[in-house]
Order: sequence, then structure tokens, then C-alpha cells
Amino acid sequence: MYQLNDKIKNLVPYEPISGTYDIRLDANECPVNLPDDIRAQFHKRLDEISFNRYPDPLAERLVNSFAEYYNIDPECVTAGNGSDELIFLIESAFLQKGDKMLVVAPDFSMYNFYSSICEVECDSFIKNENLDIDVDALIEKINRDKIDMVIFSNPCNPTGRGITRAQAEKLVSSVKALVILDEAYMDFWTESLLDKIGDYSNLIIFRTASKLVGAAALRLGFAVADPTISRAIKAVKSPYNVNSVSQAFGEVVYKNKDFLQNRQKNIVNNKNILYNGLVEIAESRQDLKVFESVANFVFMKTDCSREIWEYLKAKSIVVRLMGEYLRITAGTEHEVDAVLNALREFFSR
Ligand code: PMP
Repeated sequence: MYQLNDKIKNLVPYEPISGTYDIRLDANECPVNLPDDIRAQFHKRLDEISFNRYPDPLAERLVNSFAEYYNIDPECVTAGNGSDELIFLIESAFLQKGDKMLVVAPDFSMYNFYSSICEVECDSFIKNENLDIDVDALIEKINRDKIDMVIFSNPCNPTGRGITRAQAEKLVSSVKALVILDEAYMDFWTESLLDKIGDYSNLIIFRTASKLVGAAALRLGFAVADPTISRAIKAVKSPYNVNSVSQAFGEVVYKNKDFLQNRQKNIVNNKNILYNGLVEIAESRQDLKVFESVANFVFMKTDCSREIWEYLKAKSIVVRLMGEYLRITAGTEHEVDAVLNALREFFSR
């Protein structure tokens, strides 16, 4: 009888919350679908696809469109089947047996999960009480423990907190380790290091089309790094990792600059309404702490997190429950209103 090995025998497939809900604020997605004019551009572009042929392995048209949107050199960009694929790929390829990886905590759980599959030693650096990273202490730990790779999200999922460009640059320039900044939520903030990619040989930045762009369904992620690292990523990835439909969509959507910038303003505005509403609710409650956020969601700590989660779910609103914390995505204005009203009701009972 074949036996699964120790590292996978107790794993269970990832399952997001099941069921149908009126308001989904649990996955940090964009709350609205694409407008008709972008769908029309996409449909037109689809007609050019030769479905009998394999996709372009380097996804050149997509990469050029992405690079132009962010004003960076396309040579520094590798497209992936979601940034999830790239996280796994880079952890497994850039680390070898005996290497040490570091994550910060709390952070996006997949970094740690993939390290266990890669059988790499992974340590955690704990954030302070405010859920911020003490960058000097992090640098000291990386150098003292001879860490080979450090990876964290900036802004952070789930906390919504972030380190500034200056802090990120200090980190990258003070360590020999490969620094991976996952900027999945940086479209909602101003502190990206994308424009500095050519200055550092130990930096990889991830971006995704799953958040601001609103294309989680198509699985489009990007690794941005200097040409030497980029070549290695391209060499190690599976040849046809991004399908032709997703490539075509990404090529179209990143050309719609005004649309993306308006969407960004709208989501940040709704996040601010959500944050201010939560702060107001928390003013009269000692047991509720709301963290200021630079992403498209708000994180809060409360003793009654599960009760709130159940209460909202009964009203067909889902948010993310994480122990004594709740993470609420900024939805449309109507959805933000609905979740705030439900929370006011909960606390007034
Ligand atoms: N990084 C972070 C920090 C995320 O929150 C997510 C999605 N929840 C991802 C990466 C994965 O993004 P993608 O959809 O591009 O795989």
C-alpha cells in the first residue's frame, strides 16, 4: 500500500467558505465586475488567440502592458499563474537544503506553508503590539541568524499595516539575504519599491491582478526583479504557466490606466469609510481595537470575533475570521454601509 510522506499526509485541500452570500467581504477581492467597455476590448482580443497553440511562454504582450502601466523595464518582469504560483516557485528554486528562510508574523500564511513543502527551515519574526515590523530589529535578526531569504507582504495581509519605501530600502540594502516584498496590496498605497528594482540584486517584488485589477478569476501574478534574477525565474518556471486567455486579458486591462486609477480612488475611499465607521463603533468599546490600514481591507481585534462573524453570516455578510481578529474587505459603498449597520446593531444589543 502506497504511503503518503510525512510532509503531506495530514494536509487538506484549501477550501474557501462555502455557500452563497449576498455580501462577500472575506477575500480582499475587488467588489465589482469589469465594465462593459473593457469586456468588449477583451472579447475582441480573444478573437486573435490560436487556441490550438501553446501560449507564449514569456507572455511578452502581457508583460509589456504591465511594465508600461508601472513604468518599469519589461526585462525585469516574469508573469505567473497568480502570485501564489510565483511564491511557491521562488521559495522552492531560490532556496536549497540547509538554507534558512524567515517570515514575519502575522502575515500571509502561504509563505510558511510552501516552505514546509520545500523542506526549508523557516523561522518567524514577530511584529510588535501594533502589528508593525521593527525594521532595525528585523535587519539584525536576518544578519545574526544568516537568513538566506526573507519574505513578507507590504502592505500586510491580514493586518493592513505597511513599511515605508525608506524602511524597505534600508532593509534591502542592509542584508545579504534575498528580500521578497509581496506588494499584492501596494496598488492601494504609495510606498512601492518597483521603481528601485534596478538598484538591488537581492530584491524580488510580487504584484497581482487579483486585487485592484479585479481579475482574481484569471490568476495573474508578476515577479519583478533585476535581469539576472528575472532570467533565473523564467528559466525555472514551467514553460506555459500563464494561459493565453489570461495573457490576453492582462494585456488589455493594464492599458486602461484611467479606469484602474479611478477604481483605485473608489476602493480607497470605501476603505476609509469602513475604517472611520469601525473606529466610531470602537470608541465606546474597550474590547474592540481597529488597526489603521493602507490596503483595501480593515483588520480588527475583539473578544467576540466569532460571535460577530456568526451574526454577520446570518445576515448573509461574510468577513474573514482569524482567531480573535476579523478582517473586513472594503466592498462597494452599499456593502460597507451594510456591514457597518450590522455591526452597530450587534453592539447595541
Ligand atoms: N499575496 C498576498 C499578500 C495575498 O493576500 C494574496 C491573495 N490573498 C496573494 C499573494 C495571492 O494572490 P494571487 O491571486 O495573485 O495568487
